Amino acid sequence: MSVSDAHVSEKLQWIQDELQSLKESGLYTRIRTLSSSQGAWLVVDGKKALNFCSNNYLGLANHPRLVRAASEAIQKYGVGPAAVRTIAGTMELHVELEKRLAAFKKVAAAISFQSGFNANLGTIPALVGKEDAIFSDELNHASIIDGCRLSGARIIRYAHCDPSDLERALKEHRSGFTRALVVTDGVFSMDGDVAPLDAIYEVTRHYDAILMVDDAHGEGVLGHGGRGIVDHFHLHGKVDIEIGTMSKAFGVVGGLVAGNPVVIEWLRQRGRPFLFSSAMTVPDTAACLAALDVLEESTELVDKLWANTRYFKDEMRRLGFDIGKSITPITPVMLGEAPLAQQFSRELFENGVFATAIGFPTVPRGKARIRVMISAAHERDDLDYGLEAFARVGRSTGVIA
Ligand SMILES: *Cc1c(COP(=O)(O)O)cnc(C)c1O
Repeated sequence: MSVSDAHVSEKLQWIQDELQSLKESGLYTRIRTLSSSQGAWLVVDGKKALNFCSNNYLGLANHPRLVRAASEAIQKYGVGPAAVRTIAGTMELHVELEKRLAAFKKVAAAISFQSGFNANLGTIPALVGKEDAIFSDELNHASIIDGCRLSGARIIRYAHCDPSDLERALKEHRSGFTRALVVTDGVFSMDGDVAPLDAIYEVTRHYDAILMVDDAHGEGVLGHGGRGIVDHFHLHGKVDIEIGTMSKAFGVVGGLVAGNPVVIEWLRQRGRPFLFSSAMTVPDTAACLAALDVLEESTELVDKLWANTRYFKDEMRRLGFDIGKSITPITPVMLGEAPLAQQFSRELFENGVFATAIGFPTVPRGKARIRVMISAAHERDDLDYGLEAFARVGRSTGVIA
C-alpha cells in the first residue's frame, strides 16, 4: 500500500498535505533501490547505470582488501560490539583503528564515532555550552548546525568562506562569552569549494577560540595521499579538532575526531553518542583499518581521483555547462529550478546515468543542481559515457546549445 492510498487520520492529515506539496514543487525525494555493490556501475531499480552520485571517492566501498578484512574480522570477533564501550569494554579493533587514524592524520590522538554526523553531535556540545559562542560558516553541514543547537551556545554565523567577516564577528562578540568555538566545513559538500583554513586560522588565533574543521569530504581526497584539509594547508598542530567520516572516501561507515589528546580524552568522558550509543561494528572497523592500509601504501587511487576530476570538469566546461566554483571532485551542474533538475536527472537515467537532482532544503531555492561525484572507480570510458549523456540531455532540455 502506498502512502497516498493509506487511510490518514485527521491529526496526521497535515503530513499528507506537506508531502503532496513537495511533490508538486519538485522537491519530493524519490529514493532508488540498488541491487549491486557500489562501484563505477550500479544496478539501479533493476537497470544498469553509470554511478555519478556516491561519495565512494576512491572506489573502496567494494575493494577486495576491505571486503576480505571485514570477513576475516567477523570470523574472529563476530559482528557487533554488543554495548557501549564505556560499559562493556572496548574491542581491540577500535583501539587499533583510533591509533592508526591519529597516525594517518598526523595528530596525537583520535576517537571513533558511529558516523560523522554523530561525531559533530558528540563533539560540539562537549566543548561549548550556554555561556559560550560558536562562530559558524553560514553554509556549514546540517550535522554541525545540529551539534551547535544541541550545545545551547549562542550561534553567530559568518559569511561563507569569508575570514574578514569572521574577524568582524569575533571582534564584535568574542568578549561577551566565556569560551568560543570557530567551526567550518573543510570541503563544502554541495558546491565543492574549500574553506580558506589558513586565513581562518590566522584570524582565530588572536581571539582565544577553539578551531574545529569538519573534513568529511577532504578525508582521502585532499592533502598528501588523502590526509585531509589540515595536511593540504600544512596546518599541523594549529587546528584543534578535525572531524571526519569513514563513510565517504574510506568507503565504509563511521565518524572520527582527531586532535589534541586532552580533547579526545574529554570526548571519551563527555561525548554523548560515545557514551550512549554502541560503537562501530566489527566489519566496519576492520574494513576501515584496511582502507588505511591501502591509503598508506600508495597515493595511486588519490592521484587517479584527481586525474579523473580534471578530465571530467574540463570536458563539462567545454560542453558549456555551468559547473560552479568547485575545486574538488564534487561537480555541481547548476540548473536553477528544482523541476528542471529533476527532469534532467530522469532523462540522464533514461540514458543510463544515475545522478541525483539536489534541491531545497539541501541547497538554497533557485540553486537546484545535479551533483556529479567523480571517483577513482571510474575509467576514462565511463567518464566519456557520462559526458555523452550529459551532452544529449543538456541539448534536449535546452540547458546547453
Ligand atoms: C557527509 C557529512 C557528514 C556526515 O557523515 P556521515 O559519516 O555520513 O554521518 C558530516 N559532515 C559533513 C561536512 C559531511 O559532508
